[in-house]
Amino acid sequence: DATMMADWQIAEEAEKYMPTPEQWRDKLYLEKDEVIPYGRVCKLDFLKIIDRLKNRRDGKYIEVTAITPTPLGEGKTTTTVGLLEGLGKRRKNVGGCVRQPSGGPTMNIKGTAAGGGNALLIPMTEFSMGLTGDINDLMNAHNLAMVALNARMQHEANYSDAELSSRNLRRLDIDPKRVEMSWVIDFCAQGLRNIIMGIGGKMDGFMMSSKFNIAGSSEIMAILAIVRDLRDLRERLGNIIVAYDRRGNAVTTTDLEVAGAMCAWMSNSINPTLMSTVEHQPCMVHAGPFANIAVGQSSIIADRIGLKMFDYHVTESGFGADIGFEKFWNVKCRLSGLIPSVSVVTATIRALKMHGGGPQVVPGRPLAEEYRKENLSLLEKGIPNLLHHIATVNKAGIKPVVCINAFDTDTKEEIDMVRRYAEQAGARCALSRQWLAGGEGALELADAVIDACNEEVDFKFLYPQEMPLRQRVEIIAREVYGAEGVDWAAEAEIKAKLLEADPALNDYATMMVKTHLSLTHDPELKGVPKGWVLPVHDILVFAGARFLCPVTGSISLMPGTSSNPAFRRIDVDVNTGKVTGLF
Ligand code: ADP
Ligand code: MG
Repeated sequence: DATMMADWQIAEEAEKYMPTPEQWRDKLYLEKDEVIPYGRVCKLDFLKIIDRLKNRRDGKYIEVTAITPTPLGEGKTTTTVGLLEGLGKRRKNVGGCVRQPSGGPTMNIKGTAAGGGNALLIPMTEFSMGLTGDINDLMNAHNLAMVALNARMQHEANYSDAELSSRNLRRLDIDPKRVEMSWVIDFCAQGLRNIIMGIGGKMDGFMMSSKFNIAGSSEIMAILAIVRDLRDLRERLGNIIVAYDRRGNAVTTTDLEVAGAMCAWMSNSINPTLMSTVEHQPCMVHAGPFANIAVGQSSIIADRIGLKMFDYHVTESGFGADIGFEKFWNVKCRLSGLIPSVSVVTATIRALKMHGGGPQVVPGRPLAEEYRKENLSLLEKGIPNLLHHIATVNKAGIKPVVCINAFDTDTKEEIDMVRRYAEQAGARCALSRQWLAGGEGALELADAVIDACNEEVDFKFLYPQEMPLRQRVEIIAREVYGAEGVDWAAEAEIKAKLLEADPALNDYATMMVKTHLSLTHDPELKGVPKGWVLPVHDILVFAGARFLCPVTGSISLMPGTSSNPAFRRIDVDVNTGKVTGLF
């Protein structure tokens, strides 16, 4: 649409009337010290709010997920924000939470994650560039563990046993070849994937090879998203395995006596930040974990206070329903004890055509004609992907609402076809135009969600907590991905048997590592592939988060910066101080 303003212009206009922290306090009936102002935004004091509202009944809990997306994303954040705006237009007491964007994608190719068009979060500059410092605090907490490790290794190398014990230190005898933890930075820095550190003299640290990962992949970020409170955070931070000693025993943050200080660095980051939609509904931002080795969602903490403060609380899950919803369902809800009222499955005509055999969708390149013109036969062939995800959500006992995220190239026949199939499958279906028209465009979606929330949910997990690891993976592969079984690499199977035999690991969550671009482990396979087997070649163990992560396909914890990154176009207006070029 030629008349449509750019995201930053829409944001700038709406920011003129954005509620101040004081106005938010009044609007949300919060007490004075529950709102902690940070410039134009504020944090919400989690411990105070949850304590004051602990006896209040929870509101409706709405999760937003999607079909298997194209690499462009099919609009989960846009739908989440649009739903807040639509429910706001219906005069509901509504709020939500989303993840904090990473500096990596914001400065690289994908851009920020504030939604889009008239379904956008503000203030956009703060949101995109560090916000209230949670990621910085988290990186400091994480890197402090690495500082503790390397300093300890230097001291143990330089001091005799007697000298160590005079300092009240016991020799940990860390194996430099078995350092598990990496450093973190919040940019895509491929040059830091593998490094050698400590190359100076004997007072310049311990020489060892090391790594940097991106902040969102930190185990501490995974932890922040799933803790119930500060006590839970402190406990999990103390169990992180930093390395192994020469006899093969784990060396934890507690062994390094650094867990308390790490938690201190994060004492502010347990408080969600409050942002606004461009139509001024409240939306919290909290945590930003990767969806592959973590839940890929905003935090349990934000959900807990959101459900107390709002009658309708909306939360977005990263990736498609095979990963995002599956982890919401079997991990996040199990840990939080919260029960969802409904899930919204975001779908686009574009992605369905891709699943029907349409040409590859490549970011930065123009869309092929199939995606710009009506093509009912491609669309019909792609609809099974949507039906597959509807069936997955049904297995949790939830009847989903399908949201067709409308693009201006969609035709009436195409939309009617998706609607017909979705309704035949027993789902509610709404066409939603929040990108173009904000809350006014999301009324059909809001009404479908309100209607769905009045229905009883018979929420049930896919597998019981007692089920052994390999069986869990088998069930997820068959029931959620549509595989015919699982193929364990020899080492992975040996590891799985050892892990299953250790009773201390019984309550560890199963956190699948799989691409979101296919129901299978192979991002090239679209639609609903049949007759395939899921290969598992490793299992990662995160003792702080209490996750076991079966790995299918390759996984990179440090993306690379491309040759045409967003930072080339970002600047600051030196007369006004305004940041330009963010998208
Ligand atoms: P996700 O959260 O699923 O990754 P986003 O909501 O971030 O997806 O949307 C991805 C991109 O697509 C954003 O830049 C957004 O502005 C754009 N977008 C989403 N929906 C529409 C739409 N209906 N029309 C045009 N652009 C859209
Ligand atoms: Mg998103």
